[in-house]
Amino acid sequence: MGNIKIMDENLSNKINAGEVIEKCSSIVKELVENSIDAGAKNISIELVSGGLNEIKVIDDACGMDNEDAKLAFFKHSSSKLTTYEDLYRINTMGFRGEALPSIASVSSTVLETYDGKNGIKLHYKGGILLSEEVITKQQGTTITIRNLFYNTPARLKHLSSSYSEVANIASFVQKISLTNCHIAFKIINDGKVIFNTSGTNDLLKVINQIYGLKITKDMIYIKNCDNDFNIEGYISNPTTVKNNRRHMNVFVNNRIIRNNEINRCIIDAYHTHIMHNQFPIIILKIDVDPHLIDVNIHPNKMEVKFSKIDELKTLILETIKSKLLKEDLVKKIDLTPKVDYEKIELALDFIGEKTEKDLKETQNFNDIEFIKSNFDEEEKNESREFPNLYVAGIVFGTYLICQNEIGMYLIDIHAAKERVNYENIMNQLVNKTYNKVSMIAPLTLELTNSESIILQNNLEFLNNLGFEIEEFGFRTFVVKSHPTWIYGNISEKIKKTIELVIKFENNFDVVKFNEEIAINMSCKMSIKANTDVSIEEGNDLIKDLKTLKNPYNCPHGRPTIISFTKYELEKMFKRAL
Ligand code: ADP
Ligand code: MG
Repeated sequence: MGNIKIMDENLSNKINAGEVIEKCSSIVKELVENSIDAGAKNISIELVSGGLNEIKVIDDACGMDNEDAKLAFFKHSSSKLTTYEDLYRINTMGFRGEALPSIASVSSTVLETYDGKNGIKLHYKGGILLSEEVITKQQGTTITIRNLFYNTPARLKHLSSSYSEVANIASFVQKISLTNCHIAFKIINDGKVIFNTSGTNDLLKVINQIYGLKITKDMIYIKNCDNDFNIEGYISNPTTVKNNRRHMNVFVNNRIIRNNEINRCIIDAYHTHIMHNQFPIIILKIDVDPHLIDVNIHPNKMEVKFSKIDELKTLILETIKSKLLKEDLVKKIDLTPKVDYEKIELALDFIGEKTEKDLKETQNFNDIEFIKSNFDEEEKNESREFPNLYVAGIVFGTYLICQNEIGMYLIDIHAAKERVNYENIMNQLVNKTYNKVSMIAPLTLELTNSESIILQNNLEFLNNLGFEIEEFGFRTFVVKSHPTWIYGNISEKIKKTIELVIKFENNFDVVKFNEEIAINMSCKMSIKANTDVSIEEGNDLIKDLKTLKNPYNCPHGRPTIISFTKYELEKMFKRAL
């Protein structure tokens, strides 16, 4: 008895802070979210040494009166949530009422706020109010944090270098600016502007500020809905990929979320358009009735539970898949010198050197207007056709050189053939248009115990796919017929199919199975590089490509065709400037 004590509020705030406040970027996140909730039109984030020495967030929102300003530093004090039911209709970024007391408990925090009539300045250190004074300033709130984690040495040790703190902050602010295009954001580090947006409610302009004109020009607009969800945004052309998921920005009711299931489904939609381990740039906004989601899963408010996740996944998958099939996806050769933007993004030198003038220059509004008029055009003429081409020659027995009035194209014969075969096999599998072919010499297979059990269970499935397979004594099976979608090296492919059936075991997903079969069957039977192909066969291949749903990538996502426009060739030969 007598062992349990109720913690004093300051101590419990420090523990709380551990959940939400780990880095400078978590402080910026909480403060910026408060400014957004308060209706700011302009939010500036001013850092000294990436926030390690000082973080200041300035907004022009509603401000607080003197009483609210003091209340805001009490735990669980919030203007955004009062009843339990409110939890299920959250439309603000914050709702937990924890951020300000948590931040104030592990730093020196100065709040200056003015609501148009009253103004107050409060100074807290380690959660204790040190001073207060009445002030007059422009309407809005400024919060300044110094001495972060001075009283929690373990957490202090975990702060990163100033340059990775800046990178994290920039990454968060960029994400949040994508879903708050009506707010002008600015980040200043050590006196230099490193990011700013115009706040003119124009998503493409923000994308341009983050990714640059070249990527922005190639973004593809998507929009769709079902009974419960509205989705809208931009997805990158499959020729623009990143090697990590960080640029897959998904928002639910304007909140940045992390959801592996949704990411997985987006990557599935790009299947065969991009290679394994490549990731698209995505800005996907999901709007849904707050009753259908739960955001109160984790203190960082980035985890969201959906009550109709399967419907949402189908909507996203179908929308992106069909859009990618409609786009003109011929890979354009980029003649500008290669720059690794990801590395540059992280380099402090770069961040430091970027001046306000540089930022203005990248904000080329005329170009953006031009891109936008193009998007409208694209909406009108729904699908783009594979270009009309004829073969001018063949190099290395591997590439077709083709031309038309616009430019010169190179086609990878093997990759193109693979795509033709892949779609042919997929069509047979999906439409069940295959026939049975009897084997001249039946193929005998000997399997292990567990393999033969799985195969036994799937014999009917395989026989429906156009096989005729019978059990022939213990662990032995005889294949008497095979479907027409198997050709070339028949026994090797039959074995591969059975291997796949065994691999899938009993958790069968027919769509994925069909895809794997089609990829495996199409690969080895395509013409390998360095085999003799005639010009005539090349022209036939182009005819075949024109009939495909996606003639632009092999089933593994490699490009089948790349282009040089006439103008680009003229530039290379210095005929044009
Ligand atoms: P929450 O955002 O979860 O409500 P916080 O601790 O972040 O909790 O903030 C507490 C309260 O302080 C908010 O509910 C809001 O009323 C007020 N507040 C915080 N920041 C601002 C701001 N920049 N402008 C106006 N009011 C603010
Ligand atoms: Mg908050």
